[in-house]
Amino acid sequence: RLVVIGSLNMDLSVTVSRLPRPGETVSGADVVRGAGGKGANQAVAAARLGAGVRMVGLLGEDTLGGELRAGLLAEGVDAGGIAQLPGVSTGLALIVVQRDGENTITLSPGANHRLDVPALEELAEPAGPGETLLLQLEVPVETVLAAARSARAAGALTVLNAAPLPALPLPSELLAAVDVLVVNETEAAGLLAPGPEPDWATHARRLRALGPDTVVITLGAAGAVAAGPDGPVAEDGFPVAAVDTVGAGDAFCAQLALALGAGVPLAQAVRRSCAAGALATTRRGAQAALPTRAEVDGLLVR
Ligand code: ADP
Repeated sequence: RLVVIGSLNMDLSVTVSRLPRPGETVSGADVVRGAGGKGANQAVAAARLGAGVRMVGLLGEDTLGGELRAGLLAEGVDAGGIAQLPGVSTGLALIVVQRDGENTITLSPGANHRLDVPALEELAEPAGPGETLLLQLEVPVETVLAAARSARAAGALTVLNAAPLPALPLPSELLAAVDVLVVNETEAAGLLAPGPEPDWATHARRLRALGPDTVVITLGAAGAVAAGPDGPVAEDGFPVAAVDTVGAGDAFCAQLALALGAGVPLAQAVRRSCAAGALATTRRGAQAALPTRAEVDGLLVR
């Protein structure tokens, strides 16, 4: 079983012909609503990929919160670890997209930032042996650290997608408390002190020296590299007609956590995750674009 502790947001997007300048008003197309937040995206991704998933997180006691909870249930995610807080807003992303794809995003984390350590203790039993815990950084970092530590102590596999990177350096205890670290190129570079330009395989090896047993760096269309206990891994991306890369990283992380949790060898797990990421780029949107297990199987045998 997979447990995701993380963020839930509603994404409201409006497409405009030109982004407004400060002080300016621009009218655009109709609002498109989409469920988002890295935590919820990864929980839904894992459910579509065939896993039993429990999500732990906070919503506001408002309409958007109710919609997000219903959406998770419709995807078959166990929402028993999600509470709706009175007097707090559900996390919201206001997205304005220019026709050429350029965008601005204003994020209101709302209830996601109320997930402190006492709130987590109230909502979630610590993960147990045989379970996998999947974490991101859109809820307070002290909560992520506490969750990782208790999961590790209980014998669960702990996977951290260190995204988005906070402005402040990550506590070094956090990398020491996770089994698997997944980052993209920007995050990988941000976690290491600037030095001579190494290749990504070297980056992964250096990050591994900071604590995680396995480090995976995603490289967009180029696939991913990893450093694990049995040495380096490199997998090419799958050639697909990409239309929107939103959701690719979330599909990748969910698939990786599932495969490693099931004992799949690292190279094979990374390859499968690249297939899931690639499929997510072939459709628009975040959760709407996430692939099913059958689609991943189909791309792998093609
Ligand atoms: P993020 O969106 O978090 O920055 P990446 O862009 O690295 O993450 O994408 C995650 C994974 O999705 C990549 O490792 C790759 O396997 C897959 N992917 C992303 N973009 C493409 C693409 N254009 N073509 C094929 N696969 C892609």
